[in-house]
Amino acid sequence: MSKKQFKAESKKLLDMMINSIYTNPEIFLRELISNASDAIDKLYYRSLTDKKIKVKKDNLEIWIKPNKEEKTITITDNGIGMTKEELEENLGTIAKSGSQLFKENNDKSKDISIIGQFGVGFYSSFMVANKVTVESKSIDSDEAYIWSSTGVDGYTIEKSNKEDVGTTITLYLKDSTDNLDTNEFLDEYKLESIIKKYSDYIRYPIKMYVKDEKDALEEKTINSMIPIWKKKKNQVKDSEYEDFYTDKFYDYEKPLKVIRTEVEGLTSYQALLFIPSHAPYNYYTKEYEKGLQLYSKGVMIMEKCSDLLPDYFSFVKGLVDSEDIALNISRETMQQNNQVRLIAKNIESKIKKELNDMLKEEREDYETFYKAFGMQLKHGIYSSYGMNKENLQDLLLFYSSKEDKYVTLSEYVSRMKADNKDIYYASGESIDKIKMLPQVEMLLDKGHEVLYLTEYLDEFVIKTINEYQEKHFVNATDKELDLDSKEEKEELEKINKDNTNLLTIMKETLQDSVKEVRFTNKLKEHPVCLTTAGELSLEMEKIINNMAPGNEKVKAETILEINNNHEISKKIKELHETNNKEELEKYTKILYNQARLISGLTIENPTELTNLICDMISK
Ligand code: ADP
Repeated sequence: MSKKQFKAESKKLLDMMINSIYTNPEIFLRELISNASDAIDKLYYRSLTDKKIKVKKDNLEIWIKPNKEEKTITITDNGIGMTKEELEENLGTIAKSGSQLFKENNDKSKDISIIGQFGVGFYSSFMVANKVTVESKSIDSDEAYIWSSTGVDGYTIEKSNKEDVGTTITLYLKDSTDNLDTNEFLDEYKLESIIKKYSDYIRYPIKMYVKDEKDALEEKTINSMIPIWKKKKNQVKDSEYEDFYTDKFYDYEKPLKVIRTEVEGLTSYQALLFIPSHAPYNYYTKEYEKGLQLYSKGVMIMEKCSDLLPDYFSFVKGLVDSEDIALNISRETMQQNNQVRLIAKNIESKIKKELNDMLKEEREDYETFYKAFGMQLKHGIYSSYGMNKENLQDLLLFYSSKEDKYVTLSEYVSRMKADNKDIYYASGESIDKIKMLPQVEMLLDKGHEVLYLTEYLDEFVIKTINEYQEKHFVNATDKELDLDSKEEKEELEKINKDNTNLLTIMKETLQDSVKEVRFTNKLKEHPVCLTTAGELSLEMEKIINNMAPGNEKVKAETILEINNNHEISKKIKELHETNNKEELEKYTKILYNQARLISGLTIENPTELTNLICDMISK
């Protein structure tokens, strides 16, 4: 018997195959089972068109048999088999796919669903085996043959006495090394779990002998065969989806929402998606990996396909099954693949629509969702510099002064008075603290709704959105907050002008701590408050300085505002008129520090402040 060499280009390919295309050795089993399933499909298909060929559908099956003594594992199918020529053609030339040819030679309109089409899967067996034999008898031949190869150095083909039509592949496993434990592929339990993981939905039974309680061997079908996402919607109970989710996606709580969708068209696929009811413990860390499982005709080809989900929907779990995705697609080619892109786009709009519906129809569930994943949506707006804002802004919720609950921006705007052009917000550590801000009290007093922002990203997100339905966002503590009538403004202008001298002394006392000191009409009972000019608010100043402690500190431009209708204003004007500069400076410092406290800021020099107060109360 002469040894035949693989075709030249095949050698290189084989080497590449073994060393780089597949990084995970256990998938050899997936490839061989998929080939076996294809072979059975082909036979079944032939039986539909060729009356001479009789198959009993119930007898079609795949067997997996490990042999610990021999260190072999065999995969047997009773599919179409291969002739001598086919063994040679299909297995002697890598990247030659018999399955592809079969499809081309047959009526495409018929329902043939063949997995293989690249002609490389079979060779993945050399990742775990140093010798592989393929014994096969074709439906078209009376003779059986055995193909045998130890890898790169070629193959032999001999006659065999196999009686039944079909194929048996035997892998002679390599010795275990530090990097590869081949013994685990002889372990029934491990094999079962690999089969369940990758090939659960192969449509023919995958059988094994397993030990029963009395240690006797019994036949067992490992795969469940019909994917839950292929069953008719009205035949699947909610609890089945929930069990499927908790089982496959390792969650102990049932999902908040199950989304099933099916698309027929240029790219056809089924998707089964889940929105979890809580964030996984590592969700907001670098360890969390987004992605959906990707199936090609019922065979799992990728456990986490990240290209199917945008980052801002990274919380979604589930799977996509498509006829149009090749079994051997790699992570690298995934991004360039048009089908994948198209599916990802559809899935994104589907998720968005479902979330929108939930927001409208199941508000309580939506709030649960938002508590877990709202931060991710906000991050989606902020991190894209607003590019995704159209997509996401209507999914945001903010805590509102109105009825003390979460509202959407559109709900806020729908309640605004016709002539009002601003959306008011205020930020702080907690809702209680924000409510106590003098500027907020005043806004509420005038009957406005105020959004209370308590999460560190909130204000940055608001700044990124910038404008919503032609309304601008205005921070309650911003100096631009403009609520006074023309007359009120003119009056205030005059007061500030008349007191220029006094205000200059106060500003000089506080030096660079403030940009300006002035009187205001907008405070009700509070003596003072701090407002900011420019882009940076006091909350943002705090956050930015906390985020990067080593860096140079940023500083918001603050303005000390004194309530002109408060007793204290009379007092300082009096001190100024009587030329009591020393006292005026002390008052200024105390007032400034009070304003800082009210805004939730720290005191720059506590000793000085306590001495000043002590001084004053001991008089
Ligand atoms: P692919 O499955 O992507 O076509 P493979 O390298 O896995 O590539 O297989 C090459 C070809 O060998 C298949 O297309 C098929 O024609 C043939 N083949 C592989 N396994 C079997 C089998 N169990 N029964 C019949 N034919 C097979």
